[in-house]
Amino acid sequence: MSVARAAIFHGHDHPLAVEEVPIPSLKEGECLVEIACCSLCRSDLHTVCGNRVEPTPTILGHEIVGRIVACEGPLPTGLTIGDRVTWGIAASCGVCFFCRQGLRQKCVSLFKYGHMELTAEHPLSGGLASHIVLRAGTPIYKVPTHLSDEIASLANCSTSTAAAVIRIAEAQSGDTVVVFGAGVLGLAAISMLHELGCQVLVFDPFTSARERAITFGATAVFHDLDALRAAVSDQTENRGADVALELSGVRSAAEATVNLLRIGGTAVWAGTASPVGEVPIDPEQVVRRLLTLRGMHNYAPEDLNTALEFLDRNHDVYPFAELFGKSFPLEKVNEAFRSANDSGGRRITVRP
Ligand SMILES: [Zn+2]
Ligand SMILES: [Zn+2]
Repeated sequence: MSVARAAIFHGHDHPLAVEEVPIPSLKEGECLVEIACCSLCRSDLHTVCGNRVEPTPTILGHEIVGRIVACEGPLPTGLTIGDRVTWGIAASCGVCFFCRQGLRQKCVSLFKYGHMELTAEHPLSGGLASHIVLRAGTPIYKVPTHLSDEIASLANCSTSTAAAVIRIAEAQSGDTVVVFGAGVLGLAAISMLHELGCQVLVFDPFTSARERAITFGATAVFHDLDALRAAVSDQTENRGADVALELSGVRSAAEATVNLLRIGGTAVWAGTASPVGEVPIDPEQVVRRLLTLRGMHNYAPEDLNTALEFLDRNHDVYPFAELFGKSFPLEKVNEAFRSANDSGGRRITVRP
């Protein structure tokens, strides 16, 4: 039996330990992927510093690009051994109630890469390793030739989530869209909306984030809510925004999305994946102004395809390459995390 190397997370009070892990024999429908690159997501940083709890031991990392080296049974359509691929953040069963409703990201037996407790059956389930085993029911996509591993690694987290948010917001060319938060998720959404032909008004308290938002296609940027509200009014003959997106994880931003909408407008909240407290919304506003309020968590498999096609068209149009800082070998994974906490928001990558 061959052996992989993996950085095992045993809890936030231990450094990650690079250990040898036996590669299990593959079951029907499983693929073994040799990892080329894994970028550290904000959620990984939160886990390592103890702000977020994952089952342990585990292998963190879910923004991954690699090559298929083996598969048990027929490969998914269109793929061959040796293809450079990325895949959905989770495998789903395809037959449970939620899968049949088209909500595969909420499958009752969801298997989420980079978030699972290691077991003898599934010892390789995260990106901070030399190899990963992809389970049956994982949406796997070939990475377009011209995309770097780094930029492609963004696809299966922030870019796909942005694609999902814009899909359910039903944003159209010419719409005025407000985006709260210009982190990596916000920048993905801003550039997609810009490509779509929307006017994108962006709110972020940080100067560097606002400056970056402009280079990703923001029409205008704000750090003052009153100035934002005035600009939305100006832009829309006082109607209000067609769409407002909460991508910052800040409670007051969620409240503001609803207040900035026009009659019939849609707000999507996707920034908050842990409790932040309540938001006061008067139901009368939702009723009389015919508002739609939606949430998005994870994303559907087709959103990953949208994300990869978008990055293939636009990796040079918007400065995605500038979102990346240093790259570290797996043996220096603890140094990679220290660097990520100190990188001014740039993504740090680990290349085994
Ligand atoms: Zn992520
Ligand atoms: Zn299911």
